[in-house]
Amino acid sequence: MSQADLHLKRVFHEAFRHFRGGRRRFIPDIGSIEVRFYPYAGLHHTIRVRSGRVYVRISDLLRAAPPEVIRALAFMLVARLLSRKPAPEHERAYRSFAFRPETLRASDIARRQRGRKVISSATGKIYDLEKLFRRLNRRHFDEAIEIPTLTWSQRKARSILGNHDRAHDTITISKALDSSDVPEWFVEYILFHEMLHIKHPARIINGRRYYHTPAFRAEERSYPRYAQAQEWLDRVIRRRQELRARAA
Ligand SMILES: [Zn+2]
Repeated sequence: MSQADLHLKRVFHEAFRHFRGGRRRFIPDIGSIEVRFYPYAGLHHTIRVRSGRVYVRISDLLRAAPPEVIRALAFMLVARLLSRKPAPEHERAYRSFAFRPETLRASDIARRQRGRKVISSATGKIYDLEKLFRRLNRRHFDEAIEIPTLTWSQRKARSILGNHDRAHDTITISKALDSSDVPEWFVEYILFHEMLHIKHPARIINGRRYYHTPAFRAEERSYPRYAQAQEWLDRVIRRRQELRARAA
């Protein structure tokens, strides 16, 4: 282990101690923290916990960032993981580097070259996906789902209302749902469905991949407005068929 690695682990450990491990009082020891730079497209970072170990991936665009910027980011990521508010001075320190023209340019280039989907934002015109996620996580999952990247789709896709991309740890919700014509509980239901995909990974049976396992379906039916959501879903599908018939 290099000095730099050890330093990174220490900074994250310090952040966990600072927040006293959040509601679950989870403070991993230094050896259980793994921090890597990762060639994400754009400035994207993830933190997750698996079996008591912490895995952090920091955009490699921050490789040359000053130590105080990395430290600020560490505190922000740990705050996000523990559903705590990041300190304004950390946000400022991070932004001062992230929003520098050189960083933005490097981020643009990386995005183009690495050809990954563009992450827009969790904040829509009407609905804030992060807010909905946190509420669902509290109500239905005992806050056990680590927050993925949440984003509205770039286009108003009607054919796919939600998607969970495990490789990129991203939930995308169709921008068509970010509308005052769509009730909040329906957007919530679509997000709930995608969160279930995180909780219930696909199972391979006889060489076939099953995404909606019986356990998945059973839990999905526990959604309080499940029947109502199904009706709305039927309506969305009918509307789509009408549009398609008209276009044909
Ligand atoms: Zn599904």
